[in-house]
Amino acid sequence: MSVVTRFAPSPTGYLHIGGARTALYSWLYAQRMGGEFVLRIEDTDIERSSQDAVDAILEGMEWLGLNWDKGPYYQTKRFDRYKELVGVLLEKGEAYRCFCSKERLDELRDGQEARGEKRRYDGCCRNLSAEQIDASQPHVIRFKNPLDGSVVFNDNIRGPIEVANAELDDLIVARTDGTPTYNFCVVIDDWDMNVTHVVRGEDHINNTPRQINILRALDAPIPEYAHVSMILGDDGKKLSKRHGAVSVMQYRDDGYLPEAVLNYLVRLGWSHGDQEVFTLDEMKSLFTLEEVSKSASAFNTEKLNWLNQHYIKSLDAEHVAGYLQWHMDDQGVDVSNGPSLAQLIAIQGDRVKTLKEMVQISRYFYEHFDALDEKAAKKHLRPVAKQPLLSVKEKLAALSDWNAEAIQSAIQATVDELEVGMGKVGMPLRVAATGSGNSPGLDVTLELIDKDTVLSRIDTALVFIAKREAAQ
Ligand code: GLU
Repeated sequence: MSVVTRFAPSPTGYLHIGGARTALYSWLYAQRMGGEFVLRIEDTDIERSSQDAVDAILEGMEWLGLNWDKGPYYQTKRFDRYKELVGVLLEKGEAYRCFCSKERLDELRDGQEARGEKRRYDGCCRNLSAEQIDASQPHVIRFKNPLDGSVVFNDNIRGPIEVANAELDDLIVARTDGTPTYNFCVVIDDWDMNVTHVVRGEDHINNTPRQINILRALDAPIPEYAHVSMILGDDGKKLSKRHGAVSVMQYRDDGYLPEAVLNYLVRLGWSHGDQEVFTLDEMKSLFTLEEVSKSASAFNTEKLNWLNQHYIKSLDAEHVAGYLQWHMDDQGVDVSNGPSLAQLIAIQGDRVKTLKEMVQISRYFYEHFDALDEKAAKKHLRPVAKQPLLSVKEKLAALSDWNAEAIQSAIQATVDELEVGMGKVGMPLRVAATGSGNSPGLDVTLELIDKDTVLSRIDTALVFIAKREAAQ
């Protein structure tokens, strides 16, 4: 039987990092086994679900490249099927109509709470006679959970789990208005969609024995289950907005590459020896559920940053350029009159952790700047820098080929001529040409800014120095 996995988000918000990791594990397992990956939108909670959330989830999946083979299926489009199977359960005597009033259930619950007992339905309507049943009266349908024995399943991550049936009550499968409940829909979907491996968050462990019992009652095959532990923030508390970005698309907005996010997520709870960097192909061929950690994993932004820088530097520059273009547009930088983004990545790649930062430190390649970095200008554009700037400008102006090597020679010639240290020429020139005291090597930087621009920026710096001189 070929493997089928699924990701089944409820569209009540964006795709968060925990959901994305579950999706990734599920997807990788299908990839590894040559199986199929199903995307199912669990939108039965109409109040809390929204189309915006569906769109956000799909956008997140697409950005990460987690493509699905089947779906997206929507539970709200499958109500007829759920209804049909509620009917089957009733017919088989595996479910029953429950007429208990809200008042009775409240009373039952209050009594149980007062006695310190677990809240559970007491099975009052489980054995009503045909005469006691009037289907025209308001009622819910409850699943007849087995009374004895226990449910045992072998969680692919956590090992064997056993729950006594006495712990489980008769859960509602259809509400008074006939709509199916969450646990029931999941069961029918996993069955209809031939899901063989249910990979999901550990918050669903408690649902699993109930779902297995329903599947058994329907004579449906029982899939394998794998419950992934939760993600904690850097401080050891459950990951939440307090910790910064939790939405996958926020990582895109913050300048992370999908490759880095995927690599980060795969390692957040899964390991393969001490390997940290995994190409997608490696992930696909090495991932196993058994190696997923049982313990919670702590988010570590430093590590994500490290991976992001690694991928910015090591992926094909043209590929990274596609993502960088998005950030240039996002920050309103027109790159048509400057170096290609691949050229930019080649020289700025190891200076940034994110693409957003790369835009921030690269504006001078594409835009005129009105203001110089105050601190850098104060330090390096002093009267003493006037001569080096005049001299280097003259040599740069005389270059017929504007390339890194020629630029370097012009700078060196200035240093030699004035018999000063490299810094005395290089730093004023750097501040003049880029507006700040930080840039890659001057030769490669100036090469990517065109010659006329460099010369006119030197003039501007000379004006700055002259004004300073006059003010003294
Ligand atoms: N819709 C559930 C959630 O978003 C997942 C259910 C499942 O994977 O079985 O938490």
